[in-house]
Amino acid sequence: MAPANSSALFSAFARTPIHFERGEGCRLFTNEGEEYLDFAAGIAVNSLGHSHPHLVNALKTQAEQLWHVSNLYESPQQESLANRLCENSFAERVFFTNSGSESMECAFKTARRWHFENGNPERVDIITFEGAFHGRTLAAISAGGNEKYLMGFGEPVSGFKQVPFGDHDALKAAIDDKTAAILVEPIQGEGGMRPVPHQCLRGLRELCDDAGILLIYDEVQCGIGRTGRLFAHQWIEGAEPDIMGIAKGIGGGFPVGACLATERVASGMQPGSHGTTYGGNPLAMAVGNAVLDVVLKDGFLEDVQEKAINMRQRLAQLADTFPDLIESVRGDGLMQGFKCKALNTDIVAAFRAEKFLTVPAGDNVVRLIPPLTIDDADIQEAVAKMETALTKLQKAG
Ligand SMILES: *Cc1c(COP(=O)(O)O)cnc(C)c1O
Repeated sequence: MAPANSSALFSAFARTPIHFERGEGCRLFTNEGEEYLDFAAGIAVNSLGHSHPHLVNALKTQAEQLWHVSNLYESPQQESLANRLCENSFAERVFFTNSGSESMECAFKTARRWHFENGNPERVDIITFEGAFHGRTLAAISAGGNEKYLMGFGEPVSGFKQVPFGDHDALKAAIDDKTAAILVEPIQGEGGMRPVPHQCLRGLRELCDDAGILLIYDEVQCGIGRTGRLFAHQWIEGAEPDIMGIAKGIGGGFPVGACLATERVASGMQPGSHGTTYGGNPLAMAVGNAVLDVVLKDGFLEDVQEKAINMRQRLAQLADTFPDLIESVRGDGLMQGFKCKALNTDIVAAFRAEKFLTVPAGDNVVRLIPPLTIDDADIQEAVAKMETALTKLQKAG
């Protein structure tokens, strides 16, 4: 029985007492009919906004045909989505999952297994960077290395080493004959919207090639059009990974993730080496394919790039207007953040009071990660709401 006067849910989340009932585009409506402008997008998940007609239709059509058969049988829906992901990236093989954490878990196993098959079973260590976030499974919190997330859960999973963000010497020193891979988010999301400089990603690729180790990207947050390219690293030549985890945006709100890899590296994963019950189920694949229909349409990503430039300029103006509250603007594309001087959670709350939703991140940052489908009027409205909220905060302060 649920305790009287309290929730039957785990109290693992500090939930804001708002109850959303319906969504349309970048708007959310509460059970009391109040309208919010959504620049949180389910934490960069609702890539095409809420109730996108093409996604709704794809899910309905698939729901009437077939929900689930397991990975014991062929899946034309998986083949189709995998082919499209490969045609549009470095990848040649795809394993579908239900979440970002699972995609990263598959990435870790794929990297270790490849070294195992190549006669180097001792190569199990994965090097990560401070501020990283790779999910909440035991392996993912071990990779992320955030003390707050590790506390109380026993010994971290072995085989993860962390170096400071941007410390080239520490990174080189960390590589030894037990290293399997380097893992990095091309743009740190949860860690505070920190892009890795382009030349550094290229440098990581070279370092990995020289050391005979693998480069793994976590594009769970920055992938699927968020920066105006299908994948964030595609802005940079000569910086392709061997393995990459994606999730969030590819499902547009339906739980889907994937681990992408080159043929060479994926070849270590043989029948029986990994598995999932739900991963790649027809409902998820129908939605994933529908998301790509929209994102890969001529002009869509170019549009995102233009909107991103507009948003970035507006945010920079806000930062100039409120120097006591905002230190700087960070990020790339429609993945922007305010590095705050005031407490980031106070700013998120002040925005929310103006019916504008954003997400806090590490390093005292406020994340702005709207649906990719917003238009310039939405950005203008967002800026007006932020201006009102920041003015009130400044007066109160
Ligand atoms: C959200 C996120 C994850 C974890 O995804 P889940 O679906 O919550 O398991 C992993 N990596 C990054 C970069 C993320 O933003």
